[in-house]
Amino acid sequence: MCVVGAGLAGAALAWRLAGARSADVEICLAVDSPDPRDASRASGGLVRAFEIDPWHRGNAERSLAELLSDPLLRKWAGYRRAGSTYILDTGRPGHRAALAAARAMSGVRVAGAADLAADGWRGLPEHAFAVCEPDAGYLSPHDLRTALITDFAARRGATLLGPVAGLERTRSGGPWRVRTVGDGPRECDVVVLATGAWTPALLRRHGWETAELTTKAIQYTQVRVAGRRPTPFVDETSGLYGRPDEDGVMLLGVPTESWGVDPDRLHAEPGLTDRAVRLAAERLPELLPGDRLRTVVAADCYGERAGLALEPVAAAGGGMFTFSAGSGGSAKTALAASAQAAHDLLRG
Ligand SMILES: Cc1cc2nc3c(=O)[nH]c(=O)nc-3n(C[C@H](O)[C@H](O)[C@H](O)COP(=O)(O)OP(=O)(O)OC[C@H]3O[C@@H](n4cnc5c(N)ncnc54)[C@H](O)[C@@H]3O)c2cc1C
Repeated sequence: MCVVGAGLAGAALAWRLAGARSADVEICLAVDSPDPRDASRASGGLVRAFEIDPWHRGNAERSLAELLSDPLLRKWAGYRRAGSTYILDTGRPGHRAALAAARAMSGVRVAGAADLAADGWRGLPEHAFAVCEPDAGYLSPHDLRTALITDFAARRGATLLGPVAGLERTRSGGPWRVRTVGDGPRECDVVVLATGAWTPALLRRHGWETAELTTKAIQYTQVRVAGRRPTPFVDETSGLYGRPDEDGVMLLGVPTESWGVDPDRLHAEPGLTDRAVRLAAERLPELLPGDRLRTVVAADCYGERAGLALEPVAAAGGGMFTFSAGSGGSAKTALAASAQAAHDLLRG
Protein backbone atom coordinates (compact mmCIF):
# COMPACT_ATOMS: atom_id res chain seq x y z
CA MET A 1 0.00 0.00 0.00
CA CYS A 2 1.25 3.48 -0.76
CA VAL A 3 0.08 6.61 1.04
CA VAL A 4 0.81 9.68 -1.08
CA GLY A 5 1.28 12.94 0.85
CA ALA A 6 2.79 13.43 4.29
CA GLY A 7 0.61 16.06 5.87
CA LEU A 8 -0.99 15.10 9.17
CA ALA A 9 -3.56 12.91 7.37
CA GLY A 10 -1.06 10.86 5.35
CA ALA A 11 1.49 10.62 8.17
CA ALA A 12 -1.15 9.43 10.65
CA LEU A 13 -2.56 6.89 8.19
CA ALA A 14 0.87 5.46 7.25
CA TRP A 15 1.76 5.27 10.96
CA ARG A 16 -1.47 3.42 11.77
CA LEU A 17 -0.94 1.00 8.88
CA ALA A 18 2.66 0.33 9.89
CA GLY A 19 1.60 -0.22 13.51
CA ALA A 20 -1.22 -2.60 12.64
CA ARG A 21 0.08 -4.30 9.54
CA SER A 22 0.02 -7.98 9.00
CA ALA A 23 3.32 -9.55 7.87
CA ASP A 24 2.33 -9.65 4.22
CA VAL A 25 1.49 -5.95 3.82
CA GLU A 26 4.23 -3.45 2.96
CA ILE A 27 3.51 0.21 3.50
CA CYS A 28 5.22 3.16 1.86
CA LEU A 29 4.69 6.87 2.34
CA ALA A 30 5.48 9.36 -0.45
CA VAL A 31 6.84 12.55 1.11
CA ASP A 32 6.66 15.60 -1.15
CA SER A 33 9.32 17.76 0.49
CA PRO A 34 11.33 17.78 3.73
CA ASP A 35 9.97 21.29 4.38
CA PRO A 36 6.37 21.25 3.16
CA ARG A 37 4.28 24.44 2.98
CA ASP A 38 0.95 22.76 3.59
CA ALA A 39 -2.15 22.96 5.78
CA SER A 40 -0.49 20.92 8.53
CA ARG A 41 2.34 23.46 8.70
CA ALA A 42 -0.01 26.47 8.75
CA SER A 43 -2.68 25.03 11.02
CA GLY A 44 -3.77 26.72 14.24
CA GLY A 45 -4.04 23.21 15.74
CA LEU A 46 -7.14 23.78 17.89
CA VAL A 47 -8.39 20.46 19.22
CA ARG A 48 -11.56 19.77 21.19
CA ALA A 49 -14.21 17.08 21.43
CA PHE A 50 -17.18 19.24 20.42
CA GLU A 51 -18.24 19.76 16.83
CA ILE A 52 -21.67 20.65 15.40
CA ASP A 53 -21.79 17.79 12.89
CA PRO A 54 -22.43 14.51 14.79
CA TRP A 55 -20.07 12.38 12.66
CA HIS A 56 -17.27 14.94 12.91
CA ARG A 57 -17.95 15.21 16.66
CA GLY A 58 -17.51 11.45 17.10
CA ASN A 59 -14.08 11.59 15.47
CA ALA A 60 -13.10 14.70 17.44
CA GLU A 61 -14.14 13.06 20.73
CA ARG A 62 -12.21 9.85 19.98
CA SER A 63 -9.13 11.78 18.82
CA LEU A 64 -9.02 13.98 21.92
CA ALA A 65 -9.57 10.97 24.19
CA GLU A 66 -6.62 9.16 22.58
CA LEU A 67 -4.42 12.25 22.81
CA LEU A 68 -5.25 12.87 26.47
CA SER A 69 -4.64 9.23 27.40
CA ASP A 70 -1.28 8.92 25.60
CA PRO A 71 1.65 10.97 27.01
CA LEU A 72 3.85 10.11 24.01
CA LEU A 73 1.33 11.45 21.49
CA ARG A 74 0.88 14.59 23.60
CA LYS A 75 4.65 15.09 23.66
CA TRP A 76 5.00 14.49 19.92
CA ALA A 77 2.18 16.97 19.25
CA GLY A 78 3.41 19.62 21.72
CA TYR A 79 -0.09 19.56 23.22
CA ARG A 80 -1.10 22.57 25.32
CA ARG A 81 -4.19 22.31 27.54
CA ALA A 82 -5.81 25.71 27.13
CA GLY A 83 -9.57 25.00 27.17
CA SER A 84 -12.09 25.68 24.44
CA THR A 85 -15.16 27.92 24.21
CA TYR A 86 -17.42 27.12 21.26
CA ILE A 87 -20.21 29.69 21.00
CA LEU A 88 -23.30 28.40 19.23
CA ASP A 89 -26.04 30.43 17.60
CA THR A 90 -29.07 28.37 18.66
CA GLY A 91 -31.22 30.29 16.17
CA ARG A 92 -29.39 28.44 13.35
CA PRO A 93 -30.33 24.99 12.05
CA GLY A 94 -28.46 22.17 13.79
CA HIS A 95 -27.10 24.30 16.63
CA ARG A 96 -29.90 23.50 19.09
CA ALA A 97 -29.45 19.75 18.52
CA ALA A 98 -25.68 20.14 18.88
CA LEU A 99 -26.18 21.97 22.18
CA ALA A 100 -28.38 19.13 23.44
CA ALA A 101 -25.68 16.64 22.42
CA ALA A 102 -23.02 18.73 24.21
CA ARG A 103 -25.00 18.54 27.48
CA ALA A 104 -24.60 14.76 27.34
CA MET A 105 -20.82 14.85 26.76
CA SER A 106 -18.44 14.23 29.64
CA GLY A 107 -15.90 16.93 30.48
CA VAL A 108 -18.12 19.58 28.90
CA ARG A 109 -20.00 22.51 30.49
CA VAL A 110 -22.66 24.59 28.78
CA ALA A 111 -22.43 28.32 29.53
CA GLY A 112 -25.07 31.00 29.00
CA ALA A 113 -24.81 34.76 28.51
CA ALA A 114 -23.95 35.56 32.15
CA ASP A 115 -21.01 33.10 32.28
CA LEU A 116 -19.71 34.39 28.96
CA ALA A 117 -19.92 37.99 30.17
CA ALA A 118 -17.84 37.01 33.21
CA ASP A 119 -15.23 35.61 30.77
CA GLY A 120 -15.07 39.00 29.01
CA TRP A 121 -17.50 38.38 26.13
CA ARG A 122 -19.80 41.25 25.04
CA GLY A 123 -22.45 41.88 22.40
CA LEU A 124 -23.49 38.26 21.94
CA PRO A 125 -27.09 37.65 20.83
CA GLU A 126 -29.55 36.33 23.43
CA HIS A 127 -29.67 32.88 21.86
CA ALA A 128 -25.89 32.37 22.16
CA PHE A 129 -24.73 29.46 24.31
CA ALA A 130 -21.19 28.19 24.73
CA VAL A 131 -19.84 24.66 24.93
CA CYS A 132 -16.83 24.87 27.27
CA GLU A 133 -14.16 22.16 27.48
CA PRO A 134 -11.41 22.66 30.06
CA ASP A 135 -9.38 19.68 28.76
CA ALA A 136 -9.28 20.91 25.15
CA GLY A 137 -6.41 22.97 23.78
CA TYR A 138 -4.08 23.12 20.83
CA LEU A 139 -1.21 21.16 19.32
CA SER A 140 1.27 21.46 16.49
CA PRO A 141 0.04 19.36 13.54
CA HIS A 142 3.48 19.84 11.95
CA ASP A 143 5.37 18.48 14.99
CA LEU A 144 2.94 15.59 15.31
CA ARG A 145 3.28 14.52 11.66
CA THR A 146 7.09 14.83 11.87
CA ALA A 147 7.15 12.48 14.88
CA LEU A 148 4.68 10.07 13.23
CA ILE A 149 6.87 9.89 10.09
CA THR A 150 9.96 9.20 12.22
CA ASP A 151 8.18 6.44 14.11
CA PHE A 152 6.76 5.06 10.86
CA ALA A 153 10.30 4.79 9.44
CA ALA A 154 11.49 3.13 12.67
CA ARG A 155 8.81 0.48 12.14
CA ARG A 156 10.46 -0.24 8.79
CA GLY A 157 7.87 1.66 6.77
CA ALA A 158 9.44 2.81 3.49
CA THR A 159 9.56 6.52 2.75
CA LEU A 160 9.62 7.61 -0.89
CA LEU A 161 11.09 11.01 -1.51
CA GLY A 162 9.85 13.67 -3.86
CA PRO A 163 6.39 14.45 -5.18
CA VAL A 164 4.52 11.68 -6.93
CA ALA A 165 4.79 12.50 -10.61
CA GLY A 166 2.96 9.50 -12.07
CA LEU A 167 0.25 7.03 -11.14
CA GLU A 168 -0.58 4.37 -13.68
CA ARG A 169 -1.66 0.77 -13.89
CA THR A 170 1.06 -1.73 -14.79
CA ARG A 171 -1.61 -3.61 -16.80
CA SER A 172 -5.39 -3.64 -16.94
CA GLY A 173 -6.67 -4.64 -13.47
CA GLY A 174 -3.07 -5.00 -12.23
CA PRO A 175 -1.25 -3.10 -9.47
CA TRP A 176 -0.52 0.63 -9.56
CA ARG A 177 2.91 1.96 -10.45
CA VAL A 178 3.74 4.99 -8.31
CA ARG A 179 6.56 7.15 -9.68
CA THR A 180 8.14 9.80 -7.47
CA VAL A 181 10.57 12.46 -8.61
CA GLY A 182 13.27 11.39 -6.13
CA ASP A 183 12.94 7.56 -5.98
CA GLY A 184 12.34 4.76 -8.45
CA PRO A 185 8.85 3.44 -9.26
CA ARG A 186 6.95 1.24 -6.77
CA GLU A 187 4.21 -1.23 -7.54
CA CYS A 188 1.30 -1.08 -5.12
CA ASP A 189 -2.07 -2.81 -4.87
CA VAL A 190 -3.57 0.13 -3.01
CA VAL A 191 -2.82 3.85 -3.33
CA VAL A 192 -4.25 6.42 -0.91
CA LEU A 193 -4.08 10.08 -1.95
CA ALA A 194 -3.62 12.03 1.29
CA THR A 195 -2.65 15.05 -0.74
CA GLY A 196 -4.87 17.64 0.98
CA ALA A 197 -5.67 20.71 -1.12
CA TRP A 198 -3.63 19.30 -4.03
CA THR A 199 -6.07 16.39 -4.40
CA PRO A 200 -8.74 17.92 -6.71
CA ALA A 201 -6.09 18.98 -9.29
CA LEU A 202 -4.30 15.62 -9.02
CA LEU A 203 -7.56 13.76 -9.68
CA ARG A 204 -8.33 16.12 -12.57
CA ARG A 205 -4.91 15.47 -14.17
CA HIS A 206 -5.67 11.75 -14.23
CA GLY A 207 -9.22 12.20 -15.54
CA TRP A 208 -10.75 11.06 -12.22
CA GLU A 209 -12.35 14.36 -11.27
CA THR A 210 -14.99 14.15 -8.56
CA ALA A 211 -17.49 16.93 -7.87
CA GLU A 212 -17.35 16.20 -4.15
CA LEU A 213 -13.87 17.62 -3.49
CA THR A 214 -12.82 21.25 -3.68
CA THR A 215 -10.39 23.61 -1.92
CA LYS A 216 -10.79 26.64 0.30
CA ALA A 217 -8.36 29.18 1.72
CA ILE A 218 -8.07 29.62 5.50
CA GLN A 219 -6.48 32.73 6.97
CA TYR A 220 -5.55 34.02 10.41
CA THR A 221 -3.35 36.80 11.74
CA GLN A 222 -1.02 36.96 14.75
CA VAL A 223 -2.03 40.10 16.63
CA ARG A 224 -0.27 41.62 19.62
CA VAL A 225 -2.75 42.25 22.43
CA ALA A 226 -2.36 44.31 25.58
CA GLY A 227 -5.26 42.93 27.64
CA ARG A 228 -6.90 39.79 28.95
CA ARG A 229 -6.69 36.84 26.56
CA PRO A 230 -9.61 34.38 26.32
CA THR A 231 -9.42 30.58 26.02
CA PRO A 232 -9.27 29.30 22.42
CA PHE A 233 -12.68 29.99 20.91
CA VAL A 234 -14.99 29.79 17.94
CA ASP A 235 -17.84 32.32 17.87
CA GLU A 236 -20.44 31.03 15.42
CA THR A 237 -22.57 34.16 15.94
CA SER A 238 -19.94 36.33 14.22
CA GLY A 239 -17.55 33.87 12.50
CA LEU A 240 -14.60 35.02 14.65
CA TYR A 241 -12.17 32.38 15.93
CA GLY A 242 -8.93 32.66 17.86
CA ARG A 243 -6.47 31.30 20.34
CA PRO A 244 -3.67 32.63 22.51
CA ASP A 245 -0.22 32.21 20.96
CA GLU A 246 3.13 33.17 22.49
CA ASP A 247 3.07 35.75 25.31
CA GLY A 248 0.86 38.73 24.53
CA VAL A 249 -0.16 37.43 21.09
CA MET A 250 -3.47 36.07 19.77
CA LEU A 251 -4.22 34.25 16.52
CA LEU A 252 -7.43 35.80 15.14
CA GLY A 253 -9.38 34.90 12.01
CA VAL A 254 -12.72 34.84 10.24
CA PRO A 255 -13.75 32.39 7.48
CA THR A 256 -12.77 33.25 3.90
CA GLU A 257 -15.09 32.79 0.94
CA SER A 258 -12.18 31.78 -1.32
CA TRP A 259 -13.29 28.44 -2.74
CA GLY A 260 -11.61 26.46 -5.51
CA VAL A 261 -8.20 28.04 -4.85
CA ASP A 262 -4.84 26.77 -6.09
CA PRO A 263 -2.88 25.90 -2.89
CA ASP A 264 0.36 27.10 -4.52
CA ARG A 265 -1.04 30.57 -5.38
CA LEU A 266 -2.57 32.07 -2.29
CA HIS A 267 -2.66 35.70 -1.19
CA ALA A 268 -3.59 37.14 2.19
CA GLU A 269 -6.73 39.29 2.21
CA PRO A 270 -6.14 42.34 4.46
CA GLY A 271 -9.93 42.93 4.65
CA LEU A 272 -10.36 39.65 6.55
CA THR A 273 -7.75 40.69 9.12
CA ASP A 274 -9.50 44.07 9.54
CA ARG A 275 -12.78 42.27 10.12
CA ALA A 276 -11.29 39.80 12.62
CA VAL A 277 -9.61 42.58 14.62
CA ARG A 278 -12.76 44.71 14.60
CA LEU A 279 -14.92 41.80 15.76
CA ALA A 280 -12.40 40.88 18.46
CA ALA A 281 -12.47 44.46 19.79
CA GLU A 282 -16.29 44.39 19.87
CA ARG A 283 -16.78 40.92 21.31
CA LEU A 284 -13.79 40.96 23.71
CA PRO A 285 -13.27 44.60 24.74
CA GLU A 286 -10.71 43.61 27.39
CA LEU A 287 -8.44 42.06 24.71
CA LEU A 288 -7.08 45.41 23.41
CA PRO A 289 -5.68 44.33 20.01
CA GLY A 290 -2.62 46.22 18.69
CA ASP A 291 0.03 45.47 16.05
CA ARG A 292 -0.61 42.85 13.40
CA LEU A 293 2.52 40.68 13.31
CA ARG A 294 2.00 38.09 10.57
CA THR A 295 -0.84 36.78 8.42
CA VAL A 296 -0.92 33.08 7.55
CA VAL A 297 -2.93 31.78 4.62
CA ALA A 298 -3.10 28.18 3.41
CA ALA A 299 -5.65 25.94 1.75
CA ASP A 300 -7.37 22.75 2.82
CA CYS A 301 -9.36 20.20 0.82
CA TYR A 302 -13.12 20.24 1.50
CA GLY A 303 -15.49 17.34 0.96
CA GLU A 304 -19.27 17.03 0.90
CA ARG A 305 -19.13 15.52 4.38
CA ALA A 306 -16.97 17.67 6.68
CA GLY A 307 -13.89 15.79 7.80
CA LEU A 308 -11.32 13.18 6.88
CA ALA A 309 -12.56 9.80 5.65
CA LEU A 310 -11.32 7.16 3.26
CA GLU A 311 -13.21 7.48 -0.06
CA PRO A 312 -12.77 5.25 -3.12
CA VAL A 313 -11.90 7.01 -6.39
CA ALA A 314 -14.54 5.22 -8.44
CA ALA A 315 -13.31 6.51 -11.80
CA ALA A 316 -9.84 4.98 -11.23
CA GLY A 317 -11.33 1.48 -11.28
CA GLY A 318 -10.25 0.02 -7.92
CA GLY A 319 -7.36 0.23 -5.48
CA MET A 320 -7.32 4.05 -5.43
CA PHE A 321 -8.66 6.11 -2.50
CA THR A 322 -8.57 9.64 -1.17
CA PHE A 323 -8.01 10.52 2.49
CA SER A 324 -7.93 14.24 1.98
CA ALA A 325 -11.00 16.22 2.97
CA GLY A 326 -9.72 17.83 6.15
CA SER A 327 -12.37 20.52 5.57
CA GLY A 328 -10.55 23.05 7.72
CA GLY A 329 -10.71 20.96 10.86
CA SER A 330 -8.87 17.68 10.70
CA ALA A 331 -6.11 18.46 13.19
CA LYS A 332 -8.79 17.55 15.74
CA THR A 333 -10.05 14.40 13.98
CA ALA A 334 -6.95 12.92 12.29
CA LEU A 335 -6.16 10.39 15.03
CA ALA A 336 -9.59 8.75 14.99
CA ALA A 337 -10.10 9.10 11.22
CA SER A 338 -6.72 7.48 10.48
CA ALA A 339 -7.46 4.58 12.85
CA GLN A 340 -10.76 3.95 11.06
CA ALA A 341 -9.20 4.29 7.59
CA ALA A 342 -6.34 1.89 8.46
CA HIS A 343 -8.83 -0.64 9.81
CA ASP A 344 -10.95 -0.41 6.65
CA LEU A 345 -7.91 -0.76 4.35
CA LEU A 346 -6.43 -3.74 6.18
CA ARG A 347 -9.81 -5.45 6.41
CA GLY A 348 -9.67 -5.24 2.62
C1 LIG B 1 -4.59 28.13 8.25
C2 LIG B 1 -5.21 26.86 8.77
C3 LIG B 1 -5.62 26.77 10.09
C4 LIG B 1 -6.19 25.59 10.56
N1 LIG B 1 -6.54 25.50 11.87
C5 LIG B 1 -7.07 24.33 12.35
C6 LIG B 1 -7.40 24.20 13.72
O1 LIG B 1 -7.23 25.13 14.51
N2 LIG B 1 -7.91 23.01 14.14
C7 LIG B 1 -8.13 21.97 13.28
O2 LIG B 1 -8.61 20.92 13.71
N3 LIG B 1 -7.80 22.07 11.98
C8 LIG B 1 -7.29 23.22 11.50
N4 LIG B 1 -6.95 23.33 10.19
C9 LIG B 1 -7.20 22.17 9.33
C10 LIG B 1 -6.12 21.11 9.44
O3 LIG B 1 -4.88 21.67 9.77
C11 LIG B 1 -6.07 20.38 8.12
O4 LIG B 1 -7.35 19.78 7.89
C12 LIG B 1 -4.99 19.28 8.09
O5 LIG B 1 -3.73 19.78 8.45
C13 LIG B 1 -4.97 18.70 6.68
O6 LIG B 1 -3.94 17.74 6.63
P1 LIG B 1 -3.71 16.98 5.28
O7 LIG B 1 -2.65 16.00 5.52
O8 LIG B 1 -5.03 16.51 4.73
O9 LIG B 1 -3.24 18.13 4.24
P2 LIG B 1 -1.82 18.87 4.15
O10 LIG B 1 -1.29 19.17 5.48
O11 LIG B 1 -2.02 20.03 3.22
O12 LIG B 1 -0.88 17.79 3.50
C14 LIG B 1 -0.99 17.38 2.17
C15 LIG B 1 0.40 16.93 1.76
O13 LIG B 1 0.35 16.31 0.47
C16 LIG B 1 1.54 16.67 -0.20
N5 LIG B 1 1.38 16.45 -1.65
C17 LIG B 1 0.58 17.11 -2.51
N6 LIG B 1 0.74 16.61 -3.74
C18 LIG B 1 1.65 15.61 -3.66
C19 LIG B 1 2.25 14.72 -4.61
N7 LIG B 1 1.95 14.74 -5.92
N8 LIG B 1 3.17 13.81 -4.17
C20 LIG B 1 3.50 13.73 -2.84
N9 LIG B 1 2.96 14.57 -1.91
C21 LIG B 1 2.05 15.50 -2.32
C22 LIG B 1 1.71 18.15 0.17
O14 LIG B 1 3.03 18.60 -0.07
C23 LIG B 1 1.39 18.10 1.64
O15 LIG B 1 2.54 17.86 2.42
C24 LIG B 1 -6.38 24.49 9.68
C25 LIG B 1 -5.97 24.58 8.36
C26 LIG B 1 -5.39 25.74 7.90
C27 LIG B 1 -4.95 25.81 6.46
